[in-house]
Amino acid sequence: MEFLQPGTWAEALQMKAEHPEAVPIQGGTDVMVELNFDRRRPGHLLDLGRVRDLAEWAPAGGQIRLGAGVTFTRVIDELAGPLPGLAMASRTVGSPQIRNRATVGGNLGAASPAGDAHPPLLASCAVVEVESVRGTRLIPAAEFFTGVKRNALRPDELICAALIAPAAGPQQFCKIGTRNAMVIAVAAFGLALHPDSRRVGTGIGSAAPTPRQATAAQEFLTRALAADGLWESRDTLPDTLVARFADLVADAAAPIDDVRGSARYRVHSLSVMARRALAWAWSDYQRM
Ligand SMILES: Cc1cc2nc3c(=O)[nH]c(=O)nc-3n(C[C@H](O)[C@H](O)[C@H](O)COP(=O)(O)OP(=O)(O)OC[C@H]3O[C@@H](n4cnc5c(N)ncnc54)[C@H](O)[C@@H]3O)c2cc1C
Repeated sequence: MEFLQPGTWAEALQMKAEHPEAVPIQGGTDVMVELNFDRRRPGHLLDLGRVRDLAEWAPAGGQIRLGAGVTFTRVIDELAGPLPGLAMASRTVGSPQIRNRATVGGNLGAASPAGDAHPPLLASCAVVEVESVRGTRLIPAAEFFTGVKRNALRPDELICAALIAPAAGPQQFCKIGTRNAMVIAVAAFGLALHPDSRRVGTGIGSAAPTPRQATAAQEFLTRALAADGLWESRDTLPDTLVARFADLVADAAAPIDDVRGSARYRVHSLSVMARRALAWAWSDYQRM
Protein backbone atom coordinates (compact mmCIF):
# COMPACT_ATOMS: atom_id res chain seq x y z
CA MET A 1 0.00 0.00 0.00
CA GLU A 2 1.34 3.44 -0.98
CA PHE A 3 1.03 6.10 1.72
CA LEU A 4 0.62 9.58 0.22
CA GLN A 5 1.24 12.48 2.58
CA PRO A 6 0.58 15.90 1.07
CA GLY A 7 1.72 18.96 3.03
CA THR A 8 -0.70 21.38 1.36
CA TRP A 9 -4.26 21.34 0.04
CA ALA A 10 -3.01 21.92 -3.54
CA GLU A 11 -0.76 18.86 -3.25
CA ALA A 12 -3.63 16.82 -1.81
CA LEU A 13 -5.88 17.69 -4.77
CA GLN A 14 -3.08 16.90 -7.23
CA MET A 15 -2.45 13.51 -5.61
CA LYS A 16 -6.19 12.71 -5.64
CA ALA A 17 -6.30 13.66 -9.34
CA GLU A 18 -3.36 11.32 -10.06
CA HIS A 19 -4.75 8.51 -7.88
CA PRO A 20 -8.57 8.82 -7.89
CA GLU A 21 -8.87 5.44 -6.15
CA ALA A 22 -6.76 6.68 -3.18
CA VAL A 23 -8.66 6.51 0.12
CA PRO A 24 -8.42 9.77 2.10
CA ILE A 25 -7.68 9.38 5.78
CA GLN A 26 -8.27 12.20 8.29
CA GLY A 27 -8.76 11.07 11.91
CA GLY A 28 -8.75 7.43 10.78
CA THR A 29 -11.49 6.35 13.21
CA ASP A 30 -13.47 4.80 10.35
CA VAL A 31 -10.67 4.04 7.88
CA MET A 32 -8.43 2.24 10.37
CA VAL A 33 -11.30 0.02 11.53
CA GLU A 34 -11.94 -0.96 7.91
CA LEU A 35 -8.24 -1.72 7.31
CA ASN A 36 -7.90 -3.65 10.56
CA PHE A 37 -10.89 -5.83 9.70
CA ASP A 38 -9.66 -6.27 6.12
CA ARG A 39 -12.85 -4.75 4.75
CA ARG A 40 -10.74 -2.54 2.52
CA ARG A 41 -7.22 -2.88 1.08
CA PRO A 42 -6.68 0.26 -1.05
CA GLY A 43 -3.63 0.69 -3.25
CA HIS A 44 -3.12 4.21 -1.91
CA LEU A 45 -3.95 5.98 1.35
CA LEU A 46 -4.07 9.77 1.16
CA ASP A 47 -3.25 11.15 4.60
CA LEU A 48 -4.78 14.62 5.05
CA GLY A 49 -3.41 15.06 8.58
CA ARG A 50 -0.66 17.46 7.50
CA VAL A 51 -2.92 19.80 5.53
CA ARG A 52 -3.25 22.48 8.15
CA ASP A 53 -5.96 24.54 6.39
CA LEU A 54 -8.37 21.61 6.78
CA ALA A 55 -8.16 21.77 10.57
CA GLU A 56 -9.25 25.43 10.72
CA TRP A 57 -12.67 27.02 11.07
CA ALA A 58 -13.50 30.68 10.49
CA PRO A 59 -16.45 33.01 9.92
CA ALA A 60 -16.94 33.48 6.16
CA GLY A 61 -19.65 35.54 4.48
CA GLY A 62 -21.98 35.39 7.50
CA GLN A 63 -21.46 31.63 7.90
CA ILE A 64 -19.05 29.37 9.74
CA ARG A 65 -16.67 27.65 7.34
CA LEU A 66 -15.79 24.47 9.20
CA GLY A 67 -12.71 22.77 7.74
CA ALA A 68 -13.16 19.06 7.07
CA GLY A 69 -10.37 18.24 9.54
CA VAL A 70 -11.91 19.98 12.57
CA THR A 71 -12.46 17.39 15.29
CA PHE A 72 -15.63 16.87 17.31
CA THR A 73 -13.74 17.92 20.45
CA ARG A 74 -13.02 21.30 18.88
CA VAL A 75 -16.62 21.71 17.75
CA ILE A 76 -17.67 21.17 21.37
CA ASP A 77 -14.99 23.43 22.86
CA GLU A 78 -15.01 26.24 20.31
CA LEU A 79 -18.34 26.26 18.45
CA ALA A 80 -21.09 25.39 20.94
CA GLY A 81 -22.26 29.03 20.79
CA PRO A 82 -22.78 29.50 17.05
CA LEU A 83 -23.42 25.82 16.22
CA PRO A 84 -25.33 24.42 19.23
CA GLY A 85 -27.01 21.55 17.34
CA LEU A 86 -23.73 20.27 15.92
CA ALA A 87 -22.06 20.65 19.31
CA MET A 88 -24.84 18.63 21.00
CA ALA A 89 -24.43 15.90 18.41
CA SER A 90 -20.64 16.01 18.76
CA ARG A 91 -20.90 15.35 22.51
CA THR A 92 -22.61 12.03 21.74
CA VAL A 93 -19.91 10.75 19.35
CA GLY A 94 -17.94 7.76 20.67
CA SER A 95 -15.63 8.53 23.59
CA PRO A 96 -13.25 11.41 24.39
CA GLN A 97 -10.47 9.56 22.52
CA ILE A 98 -12.65 9.16 19.41
CA ARG A 99 -13.86 12.78 19.59
CA ASN A 100 -10.22 13.96 19.77
CA ARG A 101 -9.43 12.24 16.45
CA ALA A 102 -12.74 12.03 14.58
CA THR A 103 -13.71 14.89 12.30
CA VAL A 104 -16.85 16.31 10.76
CA GLY A 105 -15.28 15.85 7.31
CA GLY A 106 -14.64 12.18 8.07
CA ASN A 107 -18.25 11.78 9.19
CA LEU A 108 -19.39 13.24 5.86
CA GLY A 109 -16.87 11.11 3.96
CA ALA A 110 -18.12 7.94 5.63
CA ALA A 111 -21.73 9.05 4.91
CA SER A 112 -23.14 6.50 7.33
CA PRO A 113 -26.91 6.78 7.82
CA ALA A 114 -26.02 6.85 11.54
CA GLY A 115 -23.39 9.63 11.36
CA ASP A 116 -24.18 12.00 14.22
CA ALA A 117 -23.06 15.19 12.45
CA HIS A 118 -25.62 14.70 9.71
CA PRO A 119 -28.96 15.56 11.41
CA PRO A 120 -27.73 18.97 12.67
CA LEU A 121 -26.07 19.74 9.33
CA LEU A 122 -29.36 18.93 7.56
CA ALA A 123 -31.41 20.95 10.05
CA SER A 124 -29.13 23.97 9.54
CA CYS A 125 -29.28 23.58 5.73
CA ALA A 126 -25.48 23.33 5.69
CA VAL A 127 -23.59 23.15 2.42
CA VAL A 128 -20.65 20.79 1.78
CA GLU A 129 -17.74 22.40 -0.05
CA VAL A 130 -15.83 19.90 -2.18
CA GLU A 131 -12.88 20.51 -4.45
CA SER A 132 -10.73 18.88 -7.11
CA VAL A 133 -8.07 20.22 -9.48
CA ARG A 134 -11.05 20.98 -11.78
CA GLY A 135 -12.64 23.40 -9.32
CA THR A 136 -15.01 23.76 -6.36
CA ARG A 137 -18.58 22.52 -5.93
CA LEU A 138 -21.04 23.53 -3.21
CA ILE A 139 -23.41 20.67 -2.41
CA PRO A 140 -26.37 21.20 -0.04
CA ALA A 141 -26.22 18.61 2.77
CA ALA A 142 -29.69 17.45 1.70
CA GLU A 143 -28.20 16.37 -1.67
CA PHE A 144 -24.86 15.09 -0.37
CA PHE A 145 -25.96 11.64 0.84
CA THR A 146 -26.77 9.43 -2.13
CA GLY A 147 -27.11 5.95 -0.60
CA VAL A 148 -25.99 3.77 2.30
CA LYS A 149 -22.43 5.00 3.00
CA ARG A 150 -22.41 6.80 -0.35
CA ASN A 151 -22.02 10.47 -1.04
CA ALA A 152 -21.98 12.84 -3.99
CA LEU A 153 -18.16 13.09 -4.21
CA ARG A 154 -16.59 12.39 -7.60
CA PRO A 155 -13.48 10.17 -7.60
CA ASP A 156 -11.02 13.07 -7.84
CA GLU A 157 -12.79 15.27 -5.25
CA LEU A 158 -12.08 15.86 -1.58
CA ILE A 159 -14.26 17.50 1.06
CA CYS A 160 -12.69 20.76 2.15
CA ALA A 161 -15.33 22.26 4.48
CA ALA A 162 -18.91 22.52 5.63
CA LEU A 163 -20.57 25.94 5.42
CA ILE A 164 -23.04 26.36 8.25
CA ALA A 165 -25.13 29.38 9.21
CA PRO A 166 -24.64 30.33 12.86
CA ALA A 167 -27.79 29.56 14.86
CA ALA A 168 -30.36 32.35 14.77
CA GLY A 169 -32.59 30.39 17.15
CA PRO A 170 -32.71 27.31 19.38
CA GLN A 171 -31.42 23.96 18.13
CA GLN A 172 -31.78 20.45 19.53
CA PHE A 173 -30.27 17.04 18.88
CA CYS A 174 -31.65 13.77 20.28
CA LYS A 175 -30.08 10.35 19.89
CA ILE A 176 -31.30 6.95 21.01
CA GLY A 177 -28.76 4.19 21.51
CA THR A 178 -28.64 0.88 23.26
CA ARG A 179 -26.64 2.56 26.03
CA ASN A 180 -25.67 6.12 26.93
CA ALA A 181 -22.14 6.40 25.50
CA MET A 182 -19.88 4.80 22.85
CA VAL A 183 -22.91 3.94 20.83
CA ILE A 184 -24.02 4.18 17.23
CA ALA A 185 -27.49 5.73 17.02
CA VAL A 186 -30.52 3.50 16.80
CA ALA A 187 -32.25 6.67 15.67
CA ALA A 188 -31.42 10.37 15.89
CA PHE A 189 -33.18 13.65 15.26
CA GLY A 190 -31.95 17.22 14.79
CA LEU A 191 -34.11 20.34 14.91
CA ALA A 192 -33.26 23.97 14.20
CA LEU A 193 -35.67 26.88 14.61
CA HIS A 194 -34.78 29.77 12.30
CA PRO A 195 -36.76 32.77 13.67
CA ASP A 196 -34.85 35.16 11.36
CA SER A 197 -36.27 33.50 8.23
CA ARG A 198 -39.37 32.08 9.99
CA ARG A 199 -38.37 28.53 8.96
CA VAL A 200 -37.87 25.17 10.66
CA GLY A 201 -35.13 22.68 9.77
CA THR A 202 -34.97 18.98 10.57
CA GLY A 203 -32.60 16.05 10.13
CA ILE A 204 -33.21 12.34 10.68
CA GLY A 205 -30.42 9.86 11.37
CA SER A 206 -30.29 6.05 11.39
CA ALA A 207 -33.85 5.67 10.16
CA ALA A 208 -33.48 5.57 6.36
CA PRO A 209 -30.81 4.50 3.81
CA THR A 210 -29.39 8.03 4.08
CA PRO A 211 -29.63 10.82 6.62
CA ARG A 212 -32.52 12.99 5.41
CA GLN A 213 -34.67 15.98 6.20
CA ALA A 214 -38.27 15.40 7.31
CA THR A 215 -39.43 17.72 4.55
CA ALA A 216 -43.20 17.52 5.07
CA ALA A 217 -42.77 17.98 8.84
CA GLN A 218 -40.60 21.06 8.52
CA GLU A 219 -42.90 22.58 5.89
CA PHE A 220 -45.96 21.88 8.05
CA LEU A 221 -44.42 23.51 11.12
CA THR A 222 -43.05 26.45 9.15
CA ARG A 223 -46.57 27.11 7.77
CA ALA A 224 -48.35 26.54 11.09
CA LEU A 225 -46.07 28.83 13.11
CA ALA A 226 -46.56 31.62 10.56
CA ALA A 227 -50.33 31.13 10.14
CA ASP A 228 -50.98 31.26 13.88
CA GLY A 229 -48.60 34.19 14.50
CA LEU A 230 -46.61 32.03 16.93
CA TRP A 231 -43.18 33.43 16.05
CA GLU A 232 -44.44 36.82 17.28
CA SER A 233 -46.63 35.75 20.20
CA ARG A 234 -44.29 32.99 21.48
CA ASP A 235 -47.42 31.35 22.92
CA THR A 236 -47.38 27.73 24.04
CA LEU A 237 -47.63 25.43 21.03
CA PRO A 238 -50.98 23.61 20.73
CA ASP A 239 -50.69 19.88 21.51
CA THR A 240 -52.32 19.01 18.18
CA LEU A 241 -49.63 20.96 16.30
CA VAL A 242 -46.80 19.22 18.17
CA ALA A 243 -48.42 15.80 17.66
CA ARG A 244 -48.88 16.41 13.92
CA PHE A 245 -45.26 17.52 13.58
CA ALA A 246 -44.10 14.36 15.40
CA ASP A 247 -46.26 12.15 13.15
CA LEU A 248 -44.85 13.77 10.02
CA VAL A 249 -41.26 13.31 11.26
CA ALA A 250 -41.98 9.61 11.85
CA ASP A 251 -43.59 9.36 8.39
CA ALA A 252 -40.36 10.62 6.80
CA ALA A 253 -38.43 7.59 8.05
CA ALA A 254 -37.82 4.48 5.96
CA PRO A 255 -35.99 2.30 8.47
CA ILE A 256 -34.90 -1.32 8.50
CA ASP A 257 -34.80 -3.94 11.25
CA ASP A 258 -31.21 -4.60 12.29
CA VAL A 259 -29.15 -5.65 15.30
CA ARG A 260 -29.51 -2.21 16.87
CA GLY A 261 -33.29 -1.88 16.68
CA SER A 262 -36.45 -2.74 14.82
CA ALA A 263 -37.94 -0.52 12.14
CA ARG A 264 -41.07 -0.13 14.27
CA TYR A 265 -39.08 1.05 17.28
CA ARG A 266 -37.13 3.53 15.15
CA VAL A 267 -40.34 5.08 13.79
CA HIS A 268 -41.84 5.30 17.27
CA SER A 269 -38.66 6.75 18.80
CA LEU A 270 -38.47 9.39 16.07
CA SER A 271 -41.93 10.67 16.88
CA VAL A 272 -41.00 10.85 20.59
CA MET A 273 -37.71 12.65 19.83
CA ALA A 274 -39.46 15.07 17.48
CA ARG A 275 -42.03 15.96 20.15
CA ARG A 276 -39.38 16.44 22.82
CA ALA A 277 -36.99 18.38 20.59
CA LEU A 278 -39.76 20.76 19.55
CA ALA A 279 -40.93 21.26 23.15
CA TRP A 280 -37.37 22.02 24.35
CA ALA A 281 -36.52 24.26 21.42
CA TRP A 282 -39.80 26.19 21.70
CA SER A 283 -39.33 26.68 25.42
CA ASP A 284 -35.84 28.10 24.68
CA TYR A 285 -37.38 30.38 22.05
CA GLN A 286 -39.97 31.67 24.54
CA ARG A 287 -37.10 32.71 26.82
CA MET A 288 -34.93 34.28 24.08
C1 LIG B 1 -15.11 3.30 18.79
C2 LIG B 1 -15.80 4.17 17.76
C3 LIG B 1 -16.94 4.86 18.11
C4 LIG B 1 -17.59 5.66 17.17
N1 LIG B 1 -18.73 6.36 17.55
C5 LIG B 1 -19.35 7.14 16.65
C6 LIG B 1 -20.53 7.86 17.04
O1 LIG B 1 -20.99 7.81 18.18
N2 LIG B 1 -21.12 8.64 16.08
C7 LIG B 1 -20.63 8.73 14.81
O2 LIG B 1 -21.21 9.47 14.00
N3 LIG B 1 -19.53 8.06 14.43
C8 LIG B 1 -18.89 7.27 15.31
N4 LIG B 1 -17.77 6.56 14.92
C9 LIG B 1 -17.33 6.64 13.52
C10 LIG B 1 -16.26 7.72 13.24
O3 LIG B 1 -15.60 8.12 14.43
C11 LIG B 1 -16.89 8.96 12.59
O4 LIG B 1 -17.53 8.62 11.38
C12 LIG B 1 -15.86 10.07 12.34
O5 LIG B 1 -16.52 11.28 12.08
C13 LIG B 1 -14.89 9.77 11.22
O6 LIG B 1 -13.96 10.84 11.15
P1 LIG B 1 -12.42 10.60 10.86
O7 LIG B 1 -11.77 11.92 10.74
O8 LIG B 1 -11.84 9.64 11.84
O9 LIG B 1 -12.55 9.92 9.42
P2 LIG B 1 -11.62 8.87 8.67
O10 LIG B 1 -11.73 7.53 9.30
O11 LIG B 1 -10.28 9.41 8.43
O12 LIG B 1 -12.42 8.86 7.28
C14 LIG B 1 -13.79 8.46 7.21
C15 LIG B 1 -14.24 8.41 5.76
O13 LIG B 1 -14.23 9.71 5.20
C16 LIG B 1 -13.32 9.77 4.10
N5 LIG B 1 -12.67 11.09 4.20
C17 LIG B 1 -12.03 11.60 5.28
N6 LIG B 1 -11.66 12.87 5.03
C18 LIG B 1 -12.08 13.16 3.78
C19 LIG B 1 -12.01 14.34 2.96
N7 LIG B 1 -11.45 15.48 3.37
N8 LIG B 1 -12.56 14.28 1.71
C20 LIG B 1 -13.17 13.13 1.29
N9 LIG B 1 -13.27 12.01 2.02
C21 LIG B 1 -12.73 12.03 3.25
C22 LIG B 1 -12.38 8.59 4.27
O14 LIG B 1 -11.81 8.15 3.06
C23 LIG B 1 -13.33 7.57 4.86
O15 LIG B 1 -14.12 6.98 3.85
C24 LIG B 1 -17.09 5.76 15.85
C25 LIG B 1 -15.92 5.06 15.49
C26 LIG B 1 -15.27 4.28 16.43
C27 LIG B 1 -14.01 3.54 16.05
